[in-house]
Amino acid sequence: MKRTVTLIVPCYNEEESLPIFYRAVCEVMESLPDYSFTLLLVNDGSRDGTLALMRELSTADTRVQYLSFSRNFGKEAAMYAGFCNAKTDYVAVMDADMQDPPSLLPQMLAILDEGEYDSVATRRVTREGEPPIRSLFARAFYRLINRISDADVVDGARDFRLMKREMVEAIVAMCEYNRFSKGIFGWIGFKTKWLPYKNVERAAGETKWSFWGLFKYSIDGIVNFSQAPLSIASMAGLVFTLIAFLMILFIVVRKLIFGDPVAGWASTICIILFIGGVQLLCMGIIGQYLAKTYMEVKRRPHYIIAESSDERVERVR
Ligand code: UDP
Ligand code: MG
Repeated sequence: MKRTVTLIVPCYNEEESLPIFYRAVCEVMESLPDYSFTLLLVNDGSRDGTLALMRELSTADTRVQYLSFSRNFGKEAAMYAGFCNAKTDYVAVMDADMQDPPSLLPQMLAILDEGEYDSVATRRVTREGEPPIRSLFARAFYRLINRISDADVVDGARDFRLMKREMVEAIVAMCEYNRFSKGIFGWIGFKTKWLPYKNVERAAGETKWSFWGLFKYSIDGIVNFSQAPLSIASMAGLVFTLIAFLMILFIVVRKLIFGDPVAGWASTICIILFIGGVQLLCMGIIGQYLAKTYMEVKRRPHYIIAESSDERVERVR
């Protein structure tokens, strides 16, 4: 029996890259006759000709299926839709821009076939072609999140990985609304083999990530997988209460001995401003968690499928 493999490809405005990607993947698929492939393209509310292209590919090639969202829900949602709808032995996620080289697939499949590992993940060992300031922040983020959470996120890890069915089921079961896949992959465990490779630049089109977008994403990652900021906030509260207590003691004693209660307006104002700032910061941290909780309890769907190649697909999830 041939092993079945689904390649999930989230696409947002990829009309330029998708044809290049499709050709490259076809070449690889044809070089692997022992597997039966499905290419599951997920259109994440593209505004260009991506959907039309998907329809074309899907009618011309029976291996190609597609899901199309009613609007842009983000890459996390697109990947989740792929996982929920992939029913094969192996499942992989790949970007449409060739930054996840399809040429790694044969090696990845061979590793899973050996049976020792449950998944093969990839990580970039270089960050060539990336603005240095972005690399700096990225490195700092990985160091931080690994210290303060149990998510085990590897530096340079891509979302490009090939997984066994069991692992995909675990990911689907993690039905949280605020998704941070790099954390989820690490959190669920399983034996993962890491394949390092050199960074590849986008084949065509542009990245969808601005610096600010990435920054917010990293804050999300931390809030989703760690309660350390909350502990830091309460620790700060504790430290300031202690300091305040000592200062009260100092002032009372000084008043009793020297009898001069007034003076020091400047220092008082400084202290008030400082404490006010720390309080606002801590409230902001609590607010971050509250906002996440708010979105979680609403239980809104992760995505809405407006159109798909398979009519029986679950449209809202
Ligand atoms: N993507 C998506 N929805 C989005 C943004 C991106 O499905 O809202 C897809 C995009 O089409 C690509 C992949 O996610 O296939 C990675 O995006 P991109 O190349 O912009 O990110 P980068 O490689 O720069 O991290
Ligand atoms: Mg990319």
